[in-house]
Amino acid sequence: MTTTTTTTTFRAMPDLPSHISPVYTPTPLSSRIPEYSLDPSSSPHSRAGSPPPPNLISPAFTPPLTPESHTPAVDPEPVPVPVNVSAPRPQKLLQKLPEVECIVRARIPTVTGAEMFLHVYQNSADNKEHLAIVFGSHIRSKSMFAVKPGETERDRMTRGAYEGRLHPGRVTSRAESTSGPGGVSEPFHDTREDVPPLVRIHSECYTGETAWSARCDCGEQLDEAARLMSLPSSTGGVIVYLRQEGRGIGLGEKLKAYNLQDLGSDTVEANLLLRHPADARSYGLATAMLLDLDFGGDRGIRLLTNNPDKVRAVEGPHQEIVVKQRVPMVPLAWKTGGKKGINSEEIEGYLKAKIGKMGHMIE
Ligand SMILES: [Zn+2]
Repeated sequence: MTTTTTTTTFRAMPDLPSHISPVYTPTPLSSRIPEYSLDPSSSPHSRAGSPPPPNLISPAFTPPLTPESHTPAVDPEPVPVPVNVSAPRPQKLLQKLPEVECIVRARIPTVTGAEMFLHVYQNSADNKEHLAIVFGSHIRSKSMFAVKPGETERDRMTRGAYEGRLHPGRVTSRAESTSGPGGVSEPFHDTREDVPPLVRIHSECYTGETAWSARCDCGEQLDEAARLMSLPSSTGGVIVYLRQEGRGIGLGEKLKAYNLQDLGSDTVEANLLLRHPADARSYGLATAMLLDLDFGGDRGIRLLTNNPDKVRAVEGPHQEIVVKQRVPMVPLAWKTGGKKGINSEEIEGYLKAKIGKMGHMIE
């Protein structure tokens, strides 16, 4: 199986305070674009001098249901919402899940101080290296820890199939004694896990995560998911990072969509003009990877998403995974009254299209 190399997404940005996305300085309210319009003639320049109309998307007009809207708190935890079990399942669900195998896992110390284990997966559906970003050493991949014929202890440690922590001179992949520097044997499940772990299904976005694009909030959402999963109160979590750039259409086509957006289309219309579906992503890989991470059956997950369709899609064709709660991802600019997060003309149109055309529920 051929592989591609992951080079860009987690590259550190030494001059930037946040570990993936830059922090944007809020622009004055008066200079924000108050309304997204498909009509190029209604650009902000043509409105100069007239007062802006109220805006559905702007943090300054936050809907009353938004948590913390009156007393913006720094980094509040999101409030889970129950999952509607009667919702119809998306028709494009695969009937059979792809096969997945975790081929390597490594500990990554991050710039926030939290540690995570990055898992690289191969699969039977495409030749991309999809990723699981795992917070909590108790969350284990079954395929990773399976014993392979003929491998040595060093082989196992090299591909990441070890318990505890690696250190110079370590000779066994199995749990070392508590007196050793390698740590202790860990349970496969966190004993505190009466609260299901958080899961985020995230699709690769080179522009938003690496190239500082303010057209979408992907970088911010990735950061926020990682933050929630590494809180001291967290029972751990997984970001399933799917290599489906631009809602599945690829980076080249996505940049064409950017140009069409500059010509006046919104994000959904631009994809349709390019003869792509509004959303070409599929989530069978995510379901299969979550099963490999032992989240199947009654264990259940809490899914971080604003997209109700994603809940059913991630559960799989036969509800192999159970989503017990949906945890909304409120844009940082809303939660903080515009003090943090992305402030751009483009993000407002993007969020408006997500809510109006793609059924997202940002609450
Ligand atoms: Zn994006």
